[in-house]
Amino acid sequence: MTRLIAAASLLVLAACAPAAEKPAQPADPMAVHKSLLVLDTHIDTPINFERKGWSFADRHTLENDVVQIDLPRMADGNLDGGFFAIYTAQGPLTAKGYADALAFARHRSDVIDHEIAAHPDLIQPARTADDAERLAKAGKLIAFKSMENSYELGTDVSLLKEFYDRGVRLAGPVHSETNQFADSSGDKGKWDGLSPLGEKWVAEANKLGIVIDASHSADATFDDLLELSKTPILLSHSSPRWASDQPRNLDDARIRKLAAKGGAICMSTIYLSPMNLSPKRAKLFEQYEHISDLTPAQQADYVRQWHELDKTDHIWNTDFEHYMTALLHLIQVAGVDHVCFGGDWDGGGGFPGMDDITALPKVTGRLLKAGYSPADIGKMTSGNVLRIVRAAQAAAQH
Ligand SMILES: [Zn+2]
Repeated sequence: MTRLIAAASLLVLAACAPAAEKPAQPADPMAVHKSLLVLDTHIDTPINFERKGWSFADRHTLENDVVQIDLPRMADGNLDGGFFAIYTAQGPLTAKGYADALAFARHRSDVIDHEIAAHPDLIQPARTADDAERLAKAGKLIAFKSMENSYELGTDVSLLKEFYDRGVRLAGPVHSETNQFADSSGDKGKWDGLSPLGEKWVAEANKLGIVIDASHSADATFDDLLELSKTPILLSHSSPRWASDQPRNLDDARIRKLAAKGGAICMSTIYLSPMNLSPKRAKLFEQYEHISDLTPAQQADYVRQWHELDKTDHIWNTDFEHYMTALLHLIQVAGVDHVCFGGDWDGGGGFPGMDDITALPKVTGRLLKAGYSPADIGKMTSGNVLRIVRAAQAAAQH
């Protein structure tokens, strides 16, 4: 029995129910959630993959660790897979800065491959939408790869091919600082959107069949990406600006334009409030990028400090009800064919009431309660993303 077959039988049951019949028992949210293929489009867990004394295959808890995703919590039925990010922090826009970042990104890509290859019984790499469906049928978890920031490519967009060959199927031009390709939502603009080099980057991504990710892009960059990309684009981890008026979120008019061109916005758990970046938190965030350099004892102290701060000074001033209100608004504006999920887990996402991926079945439950069918929810948990991956790959020219 596979998840997909289970999903198909649920749909058949729903389709066969005569209209006059007594209302059926409300669907069990966990059972429906488990029957769906559930993908997350932005997983920052690879930051943890080289931690000493730590394994992705171990079950971690919110009490003893900071990670929000691990293989046991995925295999419980909360999350079937997603896009594991090669996140590269930005340095100076110089030849040396680019070379250092390229070495870092190559290493992070290797680390992801190594970690996924270490647990073949549980999780395997995916490079196409068909791969994802095949793995789901075989009862395996699914590991796509993505690039957050393209800073590491320097001024040579042909390097994107190397990352395509390494398995990257989703990439964004920019992170929180404006770079050689594009203006960032977190920084002053320099290019009024994409730079001339950024336009070449779009053409290269389209040529290779890599899906373009507009999360972190400034509005003007989003506009350029949407106009120039020959295939639908994604926002891998972004929230609606309607819920919190900040540049990192997307406004309703742009959400409608994105949907009109076949794209999708993957609801995040971040920026549902302004970010509360206290000096202590900023220091912990900085350390997090180097968590693999810490000894197990230092990691334990780091985890203690993180949770201590959460008690009084959480990064996000939001709750599950606000998240659901924002999500339902997003679905209403975009339509069920243009919404997906990217929590920014292990990259700053989560808040009290939605602390890790074990909260995902609760979201499915609320969507059922709001009247969405399992088929509609399935579009949002994976169908839309796989459609966009397929469209990018069908239009590739190489
Ligand atoms: Zn991000």
